[in-house]
Amino acid sequence: MTTDTNLTFNDFNFEETLLEGLYSMGYKQPTPIQQQAMPVILNNKDIVACAQTGTGKTAAFLLPIIQHILKAETRHLNTLIITPTRELALQIDQQIDGLGYFCSVGSIAIYGGSDGMAWENQKQSMENGVDIVVATPGRLKALLQNGSINFEHLQHLVLDEADRMLDMGFFDDIKQIIGYLPKKRQTILFSATMPPKMRLLANQILHEPESINIAISKPAAGIVQQAYVLYDAQKEPILKEILKNEDFASIIIFSSTKENVKRLEKSLIRTEKSIKAFHSDLEQTEREEIMRDFKARRLRILIGTDILSRGIDVDGINLIVNFDAPPDPEDYIHRIGRTARASKAGVAITFINERDMPKFGQIEALMGIEVAKLPLPESMGPVPKYDPEAKRKFEGGNKNFKKGGFKKPFNKSNDRKRS
Ligand code: AMP
Repeated sequence: MTTDTNLTFNDFNFEETLLEGLYSMGYKQPTPIQQQAMPVILNNKDIVACAQTGTGKTAAFLLPIIQHILKAETRHLNTLIITPTRELALQIDQQIDGLGYFCSVGSIAIYGGSDGMAWENQKQSMENGVDIVVATPGRLKALLQNGSINFEHLQHLVLDEADRMLDMGFFDDIKQIIGYLPKKRQTILFSATMPPKMRLLANQILHEPESINIAISKPAAGIVQQAYVLYDAQKEPILKEILKNEDFASIIIFSSTKENVKRLEKSLIRTEKSIKAFHSDLEQTEREEIMRDFKARRLRILIGTDILSRGIDVDGINLIVNFDAPPDPEDYIHRIGRTARASKAGVAITFINERDMPKFGQIEALMGIEVAKLPLPESMGPVPKYDPEAKRKFEGGNKNFKKGGFKKPFNKSNDRKRS
């Protein structure tokens, strides 16, 4: 499924303070899973959503839940999010901090391995008022059994990465935990896969759920995917090297904006005669002529934005260059899908600068493969280190805290680091 490019976060009637939070985290447009899941959750319906990490699934359930909390007449411990690992619990807790930064929503992460002191602090902060608990099953079950935690006002239950929890043997724990929760609640289940045991669990604990499936398409098997990790200034020199290979008889180069496309055409045309830019400023007749020439192999290289990536059905394109990394995984699949059509082989090369590392990391995660990173010729100088994870954390919600110090939302305990 592709993103509806017209839909914005302003279309969901979120509170201003919540919008401020998500925009400050750099979210510009809802991802496909957000577009599909948020209206259902806002509508108080149960939901089973099949979506992988990297699709924006966490915000897909957090944003509507925070909206519900902000609209609630009285504030209680309102939401329980059960998640397989402490790392994930902490990540979700951090995302709540980021998204709820301007609307004081209080959350707490509870997981195994916390020492007694930390639990005392957490308990204290819960008594002072926490809206959302994010917990791992083992620890949570223990707290419920000894009566340390009470969910009588619970309105939302989220099972995140439910298939992983089942794989880790938490099936019975989850069922026991649910026995402590009010029957009247909204239940939200997110899972990357839907094995039969998951269906069984879903049937037992959800009430007339809506199902959503964000299936990420896989690229065709005949495509050789490669990447260069580099600085912007190195992109053109390596591109010129690649284009010298005459085996590549039919090539599309993707760039992020129309302006970049035009600039690149100007620069490459000095050495490459058979090259044309394809963009929305051209007349329809010019576009058609370019496309005819490209199809007939009178034109070797086409440079364009993502408008080129969908629907062009030209046989025999044997090289795709992503001069700029594509905005999201679906676009990547569409772009590289222009090559290796009809079982022919093709090569797709992506240039990854430091800014695009997190995006590309997500693309790799979603495809479940690691794209080969080719070394740049030494003569082109040193390159940045490929580190999608570190950069993603830096670009995510944490930045608020690093810059301005930790904001203490809604009586939140500050002991998260020790717990
Ligand atoms: P997730 O799939 O929940 O693990 O999210 C993957 C990453 O995407 C996280 O770093 C989120 O902060 C980020 N993210 C979620 N929604 C959006 C969005 N609409 N725009 C940009 N980034 C997003």
